[in-house]
Amino acid sequence: MNEKEGKKVIMETIAEGRKMEAYAEHRTKDMHACWTCGVISYKKKPMKEIGKKWFCIDCLRQLKEVMDTFDQWEEELILERDARKQLDDGMNL
Ligand SMILES: [Zn+2]
Repeated sequence: MNEKEGKKVIMETIAEGRKMEAYAEHRTKDMHACWTCGVISYKKKPMKEIGKKWFCIDCLRQLKEVMDTFDQWEEELILERDARKQLDDGMNL
């Protein structure tokens, strides 16, 4: 390999490195980690920003299920709390 060819290889290597850097930078900008399950998403997995945290669609789906049953859950908690209170008060149910 002569000097000219050697230089060419070095320059190609540097150019390749720069391309990789630019690519990584670009990827990082679009990259988010789900706050709940930690999945790393590029553009492939739908993610939503809530406040300053990102959530993937799978976790949001689970969250939605929780929200859908939230009223029922809250009712159960209130009933349980009242039942405990009655017991604590020594009252007959
Ligand atoms: Zn997730």
